[in-house]
Amino acid sequence: MLNKIIDLDKQYYMNTFGERIKLMFTEGHGIELINWNGEKYKDFFAGIAVSAVGHSHPNLVKALQEQVSKLLHTSSVYYVENQALLAQKLCEKTAFDKAFFASTGAEANEGAIKLARKYFYNQGIDKYEIITLNNSFHGRTITTATATGQEKYKAPYAPLTPGFCHIDANDTKALHSVVGDKTAAIMVEVIQGESGVRPLSPEFVSAIRQICDEKDIIFIVDEVQTGIGRTGKFFAFEHYGIEPDIVTCAKALGGGVPISAILAKDFVASAFTPGDHGTTFGGNPLSTCAALTTLDIIEKERLVENSAKVGAYFKDELKSAIGDWCSDIRGKGLMIGVEFKEEIGKQVSSKLAECKYLVGSVGDKILRIVPPLIITVSDVDEFVRVLARILKEDF
Ligand SMILES: *Cc1c(COP(=O)(O)O)cnc(C)c1O
Repeated sequence: MLNKIIDLDKQYYMNTFGERIKLMFTEGHGIELINWNGEKYKDFFAGIAVSAVGHSHPNLVKALQEQVSKLLHTSSVYYVENQALLAQKLCEKTAFDKAFFASTGAEANEGAIKLARKYFYNQGIDKYEIITLNNSFHGRTITTATATGQEKYKAPYAPLTPGFCHIDANDTKALHSVVGDKTAAIMVEVIQGESGVRPLSPEFVSAIRQICDEKDIIFIVDEVQTGIGRTGKFFAFEHYGIEPDIVTCAKALGGGVPISAILAKDFVASAFTPGDHGTTFGGNPLSTCAALTTLDIIEKERLVENSAKVGAYFKDELKSAIGDWCSDIRGKGLMIGVEFKEEIGKQVSSKLAECKYLVGSVGDKILRIVPPLIITVSDVDEFVRVLARILKEDF
């Protein structure tokens, strides 16, 4: 059966994903994914940090089934009950005043960039430049690919959106030298995910907050990957003791149903006036039902606390079991990067898959471990035992 699907994919699907991992899951429960042939895998990847409450969580299944049988979509031409309730919930839970919902991370970031530029446009101030970081990832639309600090994602698509510049992470000197009269916003991931789980230094994040305050610049934090409890706090910026003016989130927000959000402080959120921004799908009854229910599960099961506790244990266990093979084991909560001394990341990840454990890999040296937030200490113990055995026996 899988071979037939692979053939169809080769013939009919655009070749953007190349040779994929030869697995095709048809069912999932908790942290377990079931392959088409019945084999069970333990999911320590969560579909790129998405499936925060695990697979087929009974409360999410029930809420979605009820919503599907009532209403899927009406557009935001009309009022949408779940949309207003979700906006309220996210604003009351966090330090932000207003929300806007879209469908993907890139779209939320694109909206955040538009909002920052609109804020200055309204005041007749000629500020438009956005500063982002090298090795960042902000999405794949032309503008978010421009914001992304990795050449491979944008070189083929020139000319890119004007008004972006990039500096190295943690380079406070570069920050001070590039900020100028035209700087509208600084946008960062406080832990860079896609490029290998790289936390920014507290000094650098404070320096950004400070320069934004001094020079009337909008501070945007992209929490598309780090948000909604992934790092052991609801938002990762909380680890740094600062608050951005705008934050974006997406991956975990809908528990697997596509939804993203822009959250902003009133002073900048009010820059959008009727007609400035919009979306057909964003915040529809289905996706907002998914997000409301996911947030509810996260609260009831104390999954942010679980992420902090199990994540810290996970990192400690990895350090003592496989520290000798690694040049670094980093991250916060359940967002962990394991960097090997040798270029064995991809092979280790394949061996783990042979042993029925799923993780992500970045480049040739790094494993990205981003399991559902429901994992337990005993899931971690099993995983670490298997990983240590693989390293001892095969490397
Ligand atoms: C995944 C990701 C995005 C892009 O999200 P999409 O839903 O794929 O558009 C943007 N920023 C960060 C930090 C991400 O991890």
